[in-house]
Amino acid sequence: MLKDGNHAFLTGHGVLEQVSADDLDEDLQAGQRPFAVVVGCADSRTPPTILFNQGLGRLFIVRVAGNTLDRRGVASVVYAVKHLKTPLVVVLGHTGCGAVSAAASVVDGATMDPALEDMLTPIIPAVIAARTQPHADPAVAAVEENARRVAYRLRTLENALDEPLASGRLKIVAAVKDLRTGEVRFLDQ
Ligand SMILES: [Zn+2]
Repeated sequence: MLKDGNHAFLTGHGVLEQVSADDLDEDLQAGQRPFAVVVGCADSRTPPTILFNQGLGRLFIVRVAGNTLDRRGVASVVYAVKHLKTPLVVVLGHTGCGAVSAAASVVDGATMDPALEDMLTPIIPAVIAARTQPHADPAVAAVEENARRVAYRLRTLENALDEPLASGRLKIVAAVKDLRTGEVRFLDQ
């Protein structure tokens, strides 16, 4: 559904212009059953609702610059999986991510702005790891590695997700949105 939705967005066949308050019908007022959690970047050019062409009640979205997760972000994901029974978590990075490039600048010796430390610090290990990998574009490699690492952390460090993962009721994947084309590419694990 996410791939189809992204295709609809790319080809101009989206349905979001038809989304209205009428969609908040009795079913949606009674509860939500979003089919995917998206952990995305706060970047104004990466709204999952639009990129995936999904209306109300479809996506449970956690967004912070650099698409990392702090404890409250993790708890939000766990809430969706445990209580809303959402079967899929997508960690969505994007090319041209300012947070990732700022973290790369710190790795290269730029002074860390203390006000941005909580945003940049979680990204730095991904930047360093990406530089050991062969990749045509180091900036894209860092974005991919950052998304993969957040997904990996959810898969391996969150005990609350162990059971749904082991039973096959939950899948956690990483993806990258191309800033220029709007295409979302799902990454290998
Ligand atoms: Zn970003």
